[in-house]
Amino acid sequence: MKVYNFSAGPSTLPRQALEQAQKDFLDYNGSGMSVAEMSHRSKVYEEIHNEAISLLRELMGINDDYYVLFLQGGASTQFEAVPLNLLVKGRADYIVTGNFAKKAYKEAKKYGDIALAASSEDKNFTYIPDVDKIEFRDDIDYVHITTNNTIFGTKYNKLPKVKTSLVADMSSNILSEVMDVNAFDLIYAGAQKNIGPAGLTVVIVKKELVNNPMPICPTMLRYAIQAENNSLYNTPPCFSIYMSMLTFRWIKSMGGVKEIQKINEYKAGLLYDFIDNSDFYVNPVAAEDRSIMNVPFVTPDKDTDALFVKEAAANGLVSLKGHRLVGGMRASIYNAMPVEGVKALIDFMKKFEKQQR
Ligand SMILES: *Cc1c(COP(=O)(O)O)cnc(C)c1O
Repeated sequence: MKVYNFSAGPSTLPRQALEQAQKDFLDYNGSGMSVAEMSHRSKVYEEIHNEAISLLRELMGINDDYYVLFLQGGASTQFEAVPLNLLVKGRADYIVTGNFAKKAYKEAKKYGDIALAASSEDKNFTYIPDVDKIEFRDDIDYVHITTNNTIFGTKYNKLPKVKTSLVADMSSNILSEVMDVNAFDLIYAGAQKNIGPAGLTVVIVKKELVNNPMPICPTMLRYAIQAENNSLYNTPPCFSIYMSMLTFRWIKSMGGVKEIQKINEYKAGLLYDFIDNSDFYVNPVAAEDRSIMNVPFVTPDKDTDALFVKEAAANGLVSLKGHRLVGGMRASIYNAMPVEGVKALIDFMKKFEKQQR
């Protein structure tokens, strides 16, 4: 049965990318080999690697002031790599807007004088603090934010003004809307939400920031080492990079991030409009801070939520269970979720509501 997969990650991938990977699987481009078994030092792999990097540069408008690194360890490893590379004065401020932001903050605390600049935990992370009211400390190395909060369904629509570097965990909304990379000094993202299969972690970092890692920073986590080696210091996640390249080609064929953003806003708009006009489903997030990637919602009670998840799955709408910290449901509608998937979800929601009344 064909399903629509609303998983928060790993998540649905573009059909075109999956079909191309299937076509290429046994014999990539006449090489007689699969990318899955190919030396990462071979010319044919190197072409894939470099095409992926240059497509990402093109799609996001990343200029030569930045390195684009293809690493492993997930976004979670960046929670420690960021302080280990960027703490020079030893101080940084974090804005905590969700569970992953909190993890990043806790991890950084091991390495320096790390302060909580603002948090939205008082209302279970259902909003983004007013960035204009946040006061950062002087003499800090960077401010860390999470641009889209995957579990709670919020996103920043305005960035804090910082005098130092701005670091962003963009795991769940990279490539979903046009962003000015120049507003950031470091961006990181696990691939498994909007880019490709799990295994690849993208880091986009200002070149001038990589030269003063803390002495204890492990070799594998040093951005400078990875940059000097074009992310081929050791074996990279070759197959994941190859599939990410196919996703980048797909985004480009769709007209780039600008066009993808329009579709994403349309999809999210359909779902939020439906929820807002219903007196059965509720989305708890402050309207101005809503994510266009992750949409949490609940029915009037927990038993009905559980029934919803079960019946939705039986109807080919899978992985709609909300995160255990929030409960209810969550529809992750990343770039690769087609408009028809969101429409199918709304049709099911209507049908389910009628049944319950
Ligand atoms: C999924 C996610 C993470 C964790 O990513 P891993 O690659 O599993 O370490 C971190 N931050 C955000 C915002 C996420 O959505």
